[in-house]
Amino acid sequence: MIPRTDSTWQTQSWQEQLKNLVCDPAELFSRLNLSPDNLAAVREACGDFPLRVSHSYLERIQPNNPDDPLLLQILPGAAELQSAPGYTRDPLLERDKNLNPGLIHKYRGRVLLLVSSACPVHCRYCFRRHFPYDDNRNSRLQWQQALHTIRSDPSISEVIYSGGDPLTASDRQLAWLTEQIAAIDHVKRLRIHTRFPVLIPARINRECLLWLSQSRLRVTMVLHVNHPAELDRHVADSLQRLQQSGITLLNQSVLLRGINDSVDTLTALSEQLFDHGVLPYYLHLLDKVAGAAHFDLPESTALSLYRALQSRLPGYLLPRLVREESGKTAKTLVTL
Ligand SMILES: *Cc1c(COP(=O)(O)O)cnc(C)c1O
Ligand code: SF4
Repeated sequence: MIPRTDSTWQTQSWQEQLKNLVCDPAELFSRLNLSPDNLAAVREACGDFPLRVSHSYLERIQPNNPDDPLLLQILPGAAELQSAPGYTRDPLLERDKNLNPGLIHKYRGRVLLLVSSACPVHCRYCFRRHFPYDDNRNSRLQWQQALHTIRSDPSISEVIYSGGDPLTASDRQLAWLTEQIAAIDHVKRLRIHTRFPVLIPARINRECLLWLSQSRLRVTMVLHVNHPAELDRHVADSLQRLQQSGITLLNQSVLLRGINDSVDTLTALSEQLFDHGVLPYYLHLLDKVAGAAHFDLPESTALSLYRALQSRLPGYLLPRLVREESGKTAKTLVTL
């Protein structure tokens, strides 16, 4: 029998934790003491986007609770197999902007580098769940091409490490890449979009902090926390290490039905993020990706939630409510 709590992960390096992700629905069910009734449906929904979650995150999920807001973010389910009109495999038409493998240039002044295709978790609402990552495997040669593109375009002042999760790459690769980018004069800022501090807090170790803090570039890290229960003491420690290294910390969330679609939850999220030195940045309306329709909310509901949130929070803790629209060079503000 598998013990319900397995804390051996606490002594493992981040690489070991990444290798030992929970990918077997039966193991998840047994850990969380969930009824195996719908195990077959879960297995079917794994399809081309299987279950994937770290032991560290699993420890923050309440056992015996099939509606746990953290569980719902990672548990494949039958609802994903239903097609819904308007929900497509490439909702943001990123394939058209992906001319140079590994590089997406859709925002003015900023480029996204797809540093790694892997993630320490598979979020069921992910808008890149069908992205052709296999065509975006980076070799040094591809990096050279991407760097050449950045070097030749003086309008680019910010490079964004994206993915997948860019921190699945090794610190050696990331240090090299960051150094190459810092050598390009017109690039001023580096941004890293990652869920690692939340999924595998041990990722923020000395090697990582070294290349992050030694660069001439101004570094911002954008986390992705959707619910306050994701923030435990291990996450808090990793955020503190980042802050002490001078990294600006921001957070983006996705508004998700049944997970964080309540004013109390969103208020607590903003307040607790700030307790850990993180500023709420964006609250996204869901991208209409096939398999995620069950997480969506009508825009009118989103707006009334947002209005209530605004009445509860100081302005600097209110994330911007946004939607991503294909073909636009910036996010669209959803306004009251
Ligand atoms: C929105 C977004 C960006 C660009 O963000 P801005 O803050 O608007 O420049 C980059 N990466 C991801 C994943 C995003 O969602
Ligand atoms: S970490 Fe980001 S890219 Fe990876 S599955 Fe989750 S939402 Fe998608």
